[in-house]
Amino acid sequence: MHRRIKKLDESIAGRIAAGEVVERPSSIVKELLENALDAGADRIEIELEEGGTLSIGITDNGEGIDSGDIALAFERHATSKIEDFDDLYRIHSFGFRGEALSSIASISRIDMISRREESLHGTRVIVEGGRISEIKEAGSPRGTRIRVTDIFYTTPVRKKFLKKATTEQAHCLEYITRLALCTYECGITVRTKKKTILTIPPARDMRERTSFVLGRTFADSARPIGAERGDYAIGGLISRPDVSKSNTREMLYYINGRYVKDGFLNHAVMTAYRGILEPRRYPSVVIYLTMPPGDVDVNVHPTKMEVRFKHPRELYSLVVDSVMESLADTGPIGGKEPVTPRTRTGGEGIYYGQRITEAIRRYTLSQGGKGAGETGRRPLSAGGTGSGAGDTRPLFETETGIDEQISFTSLHYLGQFTNTYLFFTAPERVIVIDQHAAHERVLYERLRQRTAHGHSERQKLLLPEIIELQPAHFDLLAANMDILADTGLDVEPYGDNTIIVKSVTPLLAHIDLKVLVSDLIDEFVQTGKRGDIDHIREKVIAVMACRGAVKARERLTEEEVASLCRDLDSVPFAATCPHGRPLFVSLGTGDMERMFKRR
Ligand code: ADP
Ligand code: MG
Repeated sequence: MHRRIKKLDESIAGRIAAGEVVERPSSIVKELLENALDAGADRIEIELEEGGTLSIGITDNGEGIDSGDIALAFERHATSKIEDFDDLYRIHSFGFRGEALSSIASISRIDMISRREESLHGTRVIVEGGRISEIKEAGSPRGTRIRVTDIFYTTPVRKKFLKKATTEQAHCLEYITRLALCTYECGITVRTKKKTILTIPPARDMRERTSFVLGRTFADSARPIGAERGDYAIGGLISRPDVSKSNTREMLYYINGRYVKDGFLNHAVMTAYRGILEPRRYPSVVIYLTMPPGDVDVNVHPTKMEVRFKHPRELYSLVVDSVMESLADTGPIGGKEPVTPRTRTGGEGIYYGQRITEAIRRYTLSQGGKGAGETGRRPLSAGGTGSGAGDTRPLFETETGIDEQISFTSLHYLGQFTNTYLFFTAPERVIVIDQHAAHERVLYERLRQRTAHGHSERQKLLLPEIIELQPAHFDLLAANMDILADTGLDVEPYGDNTIIVKSVTPLLAHIDLKVLVSDLIDEFVQTGKRGDIDHIREKVIAVMACRGAVKARERLTEEEVASLCRDLDSVPFAATCPHGRPLFVSLGTGDMERMFKRR
């Protein structure tokens, strides 16, 4: 079958793009609220019906849209906020991709009225499934009122995946409160059909706003932070170590006024709190960073929460230092010990340096870290630095019960039997290796090592693999996405029940990713929700190793066999495969004599 390449039908393309921007009702709320804030509104009203699954309404008193531009606003990549590429690096507004309205419109029905101050009348536009069906004059106060209904009606599968209204509403409120912390002047109310569920009044300053949004407990105990270094400035509030949380949800960062979600900044903050927070507890922090717009790239992801920094090292120390300074007179947890100010000198300094290196390494990694080296194409090149010949490990119990050490590279290769077993001789014995089990062990160890130390290398796929899944499987995979990233497979949602694999550890670059993903899903189905993260991670690595390894009945060249031997010498515990089967058997002269009844 031969498929011709053709340009996607507008509406399909629109829906695919929408999948990246609009995942659930809260994504719509976020985009619309950002638009209202960008328009300079200081009063915003939001109405959510059934947690936003039935309808989302938002009214602002911002600058409004010109009647001549209103249709344009629904076209893809139509934005009034940037004019040329360089503007991308000077962004001060929330929006800039011009994707939100068109994406939302392609999966719902929109009714919008807007008026600019200077216009005599407003304009009303109705957009259905991405197409404008009506546009006319209408009376309107200054500002914009937009109502989104029939959400996901063009993508019913996505609709099926919405959670209970209460869950969706919670997601919406989370976005709203995060955005509310970007400004303090704007008043925001959120209503349902029946009642007002959140009122965030205009505040006098950021502290007042923060205490309103994060609550009294935080406000009463929070400590301010503040520092400036060159073009960089940091400010905000951080919680005392004894009012910690069980998750990172209240670790909030704003860069140049924009909310960002960033593991790197979390890492820096946790470094500063280290030793004074109980294990697995997290602080509440609201941290505002300002830096030259050119030093932060927000154009990494369509929903614009991930960023890339030009000077991560400097930023990291700025964060750690200012948080530490603010916590300096906080005692260790328990509070009974004398209060020791912690500084960056001495032992702490070394430790701190390591943390930075570690954070930067992870950061580069999460940014799709470059680095070639391994191609992973030759099935047996497990890559990594083998410690070479001569590095032997205590091994297993043979059938004869002897503990032995084998240097695989020093064995003499005889040949492959049924393209499955590799025969070798050593002085006084014959060794038979199961090629699949052996290679599987090698990959397993490598994957484990790299997972423990963070996978520094990624191979970008020339053609990203797009895989459509059953809805339930999509959910399972989405829930385990972080683990997959840890272990070397970068998977992202890509529209309805579809995922995209863009890069992968070189160790797995040669394999069929569709098959791997399907095996992983089988594993997740089995493990279900019970396993803890470490357990699941082990399972994932085992599946990857199994998939990545040469199969039985595969012909191997002598060179590949030699490479396998080198790899076996470099991994610990080369006695059994991850499933516990032996990798090899060893027959000594004694065994031979017994077999041939010479003894
Ligand atoms: P972006 O925000 O990335 O520019 P959007 O698709 O969200 O793209 O919006 C497209 C354009 O529509 C914006 O650039 C802006 O000019 C206009 N717009 C959208 N919402 C509003 C609003 N509430 N008030 C004023 N203008 C708006
Ligand atoms: Mg926008």
